[in-house]
Amino acid sequence: MKIVVCIKQVPSTNKVQLHPETNTIIRDGRKSVTNPFDTYAIEEAIRIKEKTGGKTIAISMGIPETEKLLKDAMGRGIDQAILLSDKAFAGSDTLATSYTLSLGIRELMPVDLILCGKMAVDGDTAQIGPELAEQLGIPHVTDVIEILEMKQSYLICKREIDNGYQLLKVKLPALLTVLKDINMPRMPSIEGVLQSETIEVIRKDARDLEAKTSKLGLSGSPTQVVKTFVPERDSKAIEISGNIEEKAAKVKNIIGEVLGNGRSQD
Ligand SMILES: Cc1cc2nc3c(=O)[nH]c(=O)nc-3n(C[C@H](O)[C@H](O)[C@H](O)COP(=O)(O)OP(=O)(O)OC[C@H]3O[C@@H](n4cnc5c(N)ncnc54)[C@H](O)[C@@H]3O)c2cc1C
Repeated sequence: MKIVVCIKQVPSTNKVQLHPETNTIIRDGRKSVTNPFDTYAIEEAIRIKEKTGGKTIAISMGIPETEKLLKDAMGRGIDQAILLSDKAFAGSDTLATSYTLSLGIRELMPVDLILCGKMAVDGDTAQIGPELAEQLGIPHVTDVIEILEMKQSYLICKREIDNGYQLLKVKLPALLTVLKDINMPRMPSIEGVLQSETIEVIRKDARDLEAKTSKLGLSGSPTQVVKTFVPERDSKAIEISGNIEEKAAKVKNIIGEVLGNGRSQD
């Protein structure tokens, strides 16, 4: 079984800084970590391989520093890592990102299973998994919390939905996005870290991927961020005193004011 895991580098802080002109995330020179949800995808890939045998490959589209995170994945037990990195990829929206990732993964075909995190904690769209599956023409399941059965041609998984679960049988190859309930990720082992030092991360640029430049980066992104801003918060605390009737009347008046008509509501 050949399993590919998509991992994304995200800022290690919640103080994400945006470029004032392009409104894109500034990543150069900032400390990054593996997107937390992707550590569960890495763990699941390793667990499947431990049961069924085969090969696990981590892939990322990112800046050169992402190589450290791919090494970390290998330290945990991933066999091979590929970094798609090129200035032409900068400013990619989700469509351009999934297109670029699809080219990297096509080169690895036949692949049995692709695992992604539920979402990236910086971009937060949860679009890459489904878009990538579409680009590759394979089925996908989002929000997976358990893989119950794994066969050569299909798998059965449990998917979280509002107020319950779905059990789905999916034909392979397929893509799953996973939630953190799926497992408890292991830390890199000393043996794994030493082993990862002996394995080179494979680098590919736009030319290696034979990518259509019109579909890459900022210029290949139909989504344009027009403006980014932190919403203004206007909140205050009011202490309400009196007996129960007085308190109720005051609450009614406050609600009336908030609704904008300045008079109490019947
Ligand atoms: C106009 C525009 C410009 C942008 N410019 C930039 C920019 O300059 N630099 C920048 O970094 N971001 C930029 N972004 C954000 C970028 O599009 C998203 O971060 C990226 O497409 C992934 O989307 P997401 O973060 O919402 O991931 P999600 O869809 O929430 O991620 C889901 C899962 O997909 C996988 N995944 C996501 N991204 C990658 C990746 N790169 N490699 C491997 N696997 C991945 C992971 O498994 C992840 O858990 C831009 C967005 C827009 C709309």
